[in-house]
Amino acid sequence: MLQDIFPHTFHNEYVNAEPEPESRIVIFDKNHIWMHLDPDKKEASFPMYAELKKLKAEYRYLFAIDKTRFFLAMREDESPISAGGLQSTSIRDLYRYEPAYVKFASVMALQLRNWYENNRFCGKCGEKMTQDDHERMLKCDCGNMVYPKITPAIIAAVRNGSKILLTRYADREYKRYALIAGFSEVGETIEDTVRREIMEEVGLKVRNLRFYKSQPWPFSDSLLMGFFCDLDGPEDIRLDRNELSEARWIDREDLDIEFDGISLTNEMIIRFKENDL
Ligand SMILES: [Zn+2]
Repeated sequence: MLQDIFPHTFHNEYVNAEPEPESRIVIFDKNHIWMHLDPDKKEASFPMYAELKKLKAEYRYLFAIDKTRFFLAMREDESPISAGGLQSTSIRDLYRYEPAYVKFASVMALQLRNWYENNRFCGKCGEKMTQDDHERMLKCDCGNMVYPKITPAIIAAVRNGSKILLTRYADREYKRYALIAGFSEVGETIEDTVRREIMEEVGLKVRNLRFYKSQPWPFSDSLLMGFFCDLDGPEDIRLDRNELSEARWIDREDLDIEFDGISLTNEMIIRFKENDL
């Protein structure tokens, strides 16, 4: 999955630090990133601070991977970068490159960039927010404190004997098969979220919920929690057409899916296909 960057280690503790010559710098151009790309070797790397002496930016500490520190370059304007052969690439295109930690660092940086941009001003009094010295928190003189938003959400694989329930979203670019998914609502446990989302999207009852794994999903500021569960009752699907264009039972034998190394959904479908759960 996206966060699996072994043998490297992600360190998310906030450090009040300035970039050093070897620090890696993440520079966005809307939702594109300026990177060194080697299409022949399929390798991507972030520029080092030493390469970017002339870049006008404010630097915010992001995180470290092993001992390498990453900083976000916050620029007034997102004009093209002329330094050292950097190229602007979309995050989706980066999926084709190695190493794995570059992809994960890119999407984590995107989440934090969005958080900083969306919280320049205090939602309570309208004054400017400033970064706290000790933790990843924005604060205002009025006392308001804002931490990065992390929204719990579920991915649910519903099993019916040798069949699994696969869905397609109604109005999204993503057209491959998915599992039932949705955000937690106020006042419910994560298990309630699983049962409610399945009932809302396909009108089915389930039992025997089994937690599988979780995954940070920075694109939607969420923490996805993956569950397997079993159908409890009739298998007739009642589709919510606002959410889904299709939902159907597919037998393990007929599943046609390739490993993508990115999403929890993909891993769960593959685990079901391999019949090792
Ligand atoms: Zn305030």
